[in-house]
Amino acid sequence: MKRGVKGLLLLFLVVSNISAESPTFDGEKAFTYLLDQTNMGPRNPGSKGHQTCIEWLINIGDNWADSVVVQPFTGFNPFGGKGIELINIIYRFNPNYPQRIFLSAHFDTRPIADYDSKDRFSPILGANDGASGVAVLLHLSELFSNNPPPVGVDIIFWDGEDLGRQNNLEEFCQGSRFYSQNPIKPVPEKGIVIDMIGDADLQIYYELYSLQFAPHMLQEIWTLAKNLGYADVFIPKPGQMVYDDHVPLSLHGIPTIDIIDFQYPNASRNYWHTHEDTPDKCSPESLKIVGDVLLTWIFMQE
Ligand SMILES: [Zn+2]
Repeated sequence: MKRGVKGLLLLFLVVSNISAESPTFDGEKAFTYLLDQTNMGPRNPGSKGHQTCIEWLINIGDNWADSVVVQPFTGFNPFGGKGIELINIIYRFNPNYPQRIFLSAHFDTRPIADYDSKDRFSPILGANDGASGVAVLLHLSELFSNNPPPVGVDIIFWDGEDLGRQNNLEEFCQGSRFYSQNPIKPVPEKGIVIDMIGDADLQIYYELYSLQFAPHMLQEIWTLAKNLGYADVFIPKPGQMVYDDHVPLSLHGIPTIDIIDFQYPNASRNYWHTHEDTPDKCSPESLKIVGDVLLTWIFMQE
């Protein structure tokens, strides 16, 4: 009798543990966080939307994360020719666990529309290039708040990613470069950048720096995506080489891959760095696919 009760109790614990560790990613919910950002207007550093977004991200983190760390620093604004205040925002889950990984996206948007045919010197809305990655990370954080991940997780929102002039790579990725030189301890052992993953026509190839820096992690993610039924989106073939936040991090000893669909929407048209980068070009389904893969990956860690 006693043993029976104990067995039942154990069974209950196991069942409740499974349900606690298997949250479901809701693409529609994530999409509302994309719209929340585009409703702020452009979020290029120094703009009103940028400041609104910073306050919004910190407030949300105070509710969902175990702790929020901000990392303010003075960056360089090549368009204004001077220093500019930037800030990385870090949500920490299980902040004391020494075994840590990070998931990240940039929250700033491009101050110019250099690939548009008109209005090239006004800032873009950045529905895909900016808001999409942040939207997925926010919903993951919401899920982690009720279902603590099995390892330490840092969710990092980079500033100053898109603040460079063409062909001046060192002016881009300012937030991740600053962090890579001043990481928050305990330092994550590896990580993922997501960028431009909201495209309604989503196809994600191997990004070539990632293939160089962290081939095993890349393989692991694409295999996982295939097992989840997303082989038509995560295509296991080499794509383009994209200088993104994963480069400074990997060069500073934190192997990082970039999950990015750089053909937005496809090989024959381009919304990237134009005023066409708006929410109607993105979809909740795309956010869900990337969210499902990351969520499953996190709960596989131990
Ligand atoms: Zn960009």
